Amino acid sequence: MKAEDVFALGLGLTAPWKLLGQTLDTDKKPFELRLEIGAERGAKYPCPTCGALCTAHDFEEMTWRHLNFFQHFCFLTARVPRVKCKTHGIHRTNVPWSRPGSGFTLLFEEVVMALAREMPVNAVARHVGVTDQRIWRIIHHYVMRAMSGLDLSGVCGVALDETASKRGHRYVTIFLDMDREQRPVIFAVPGKGKECLKIFAEHLKRQGGDAKNIIEVVCDMSPAFIAAVCDEFPSATLTVDWFHVVQLFTTGMDDVRKLEAKQVKLPDGTRWATLKGLTTKKNDEQQAALRELFERGLATATAFRVKEMLRWVREADSKRAAKWRATNFIRTARELIGEDALLAPMRKALKTFEEHLPRILRRWESLLSNARLESMNGLFQAARARARGYRNVGFFITMIYLIGAPITALLKKPIPHIWSRPGVKKNDLDFFGLAANIYPASACIGSALMGVYALSFLITRSAS
Ligand SMILES: [Zn+2]
Repeated sequence: MKAEDVFALGLGLTAPWKLLGQTLDTDKKPFELRLEIGAERGAKYPCPTCGALCTAHDFEEMTWRHLNFFQHFCFLTARVPRVKCKTHGIHRTNVPWSRPGSGFTLLFEEVVMALAREMPVNAVARHVGVTDQRIWRIIHHYVMRAMSGLDLSGVCGVALDETASKRGHRYVTIFLDMDREQRPVIFAVPGKGKECLKIFAEHLKRQGGDAKNIIEVVCDMSPAFIAAVCDEFPSATLTVDWFHVVQLFTTGMDDVRKLEAKQVKLPDGTRWATLKGLTTKKNDEQQAALRELFERGLATATAFRVKEMLRWVREADSKRAAKWRATNFIRTARELIGEDALLAPMRKALKTFEEHLPRILRRWESLLSNARLESMNGLFQAARARARGYRNVGFFITMIYLIGAPITALLKKPIPHIWSRPGVKKNDLDFFGLAANIYPASACIGSALMGVYALSFLITRSAS
């Protein structure tokens, strides 16, 4: 096998394309390997719409970044024609090594996608020597293509939650399919509240689902959300996730602490001591703080007690038991809180709890036994870290999809039929475990490196 053939094979070149030449530009640092691709004069090229072979109308020279050749950058150059199709008119033909409009080869993009699953985007950009803006564009393309192919016809239970794209920045509302244990994210949209539900209902329809099929929605206790769920999903019952109940009382307790801290000096370490559960491990300072709060009979201690009682309600093993415990909880909490002005935030939380009790208790009979919103927090944090340095809320959503949506086969269009080319022996393929058609990610990187290794080996051999 000649070096040219190896290159052509590695690139997945199909007729009429072939490798015309290669040069290593040693003036550039790092060196640049430039591969020139072309076709015979008078060759015919496929119409991008119907695939019929057509004559070239005119040419434009185009360049694509390819996988590094060892530490050196590698570029492909080709004069790409616009073809004149009898049916479809004049259009630029598609090349087999790259997707239309991309300045990268498919193999390069495959490596970028593999790396993006493992590290922050700015690290990927540094690693491959391309601006992060261009990396984002690649990721966005593949993620959105996969998302648009998602079949949502079976979705009947959703949970939704909102999160900030950055601390204090724009909100994003995320929808989870509650039947999916892994990668449950099926939609995310900028903004929060009622409008997001409407957009989700439309998205569901576009992807083969139906708002009428939704029989359960898990969300928080915001009245606007609840009203919108009833409008958009008429068959759905509403369940308040326990995560939001805990959040309600934790926020109330922290507000009490802030109010009280304006009046008296609270012990050091109070904040973290009270945010942690009673049984969660604490350091000496936090333990001492908790003891002191109770000994001094402070309002923050009362708020902490109420918050901790919730755990007892949650541990009920049936809806009946939960109802009984919740009733007890409300009565006891009310007595503890009393009329103390400092405890006003807890009174408010308790009132909200009472109002939403039927929806809260529904979790004990819900089809969706394990609400997953809590575990989603880790995912949002990871997405935020990967998208660091970007204000663009669209990139944040792209990253949430990449990490949390059921889209694993992002690069499903393989480079076509390279092993059916004449002159290619099976052994040649085994030899470099060709990257072109291989998923998953690690195999892709591994085989790409193998490809480069094999290539250099063969070049050396043919030169000697
Ligand atoms: Zn055509």
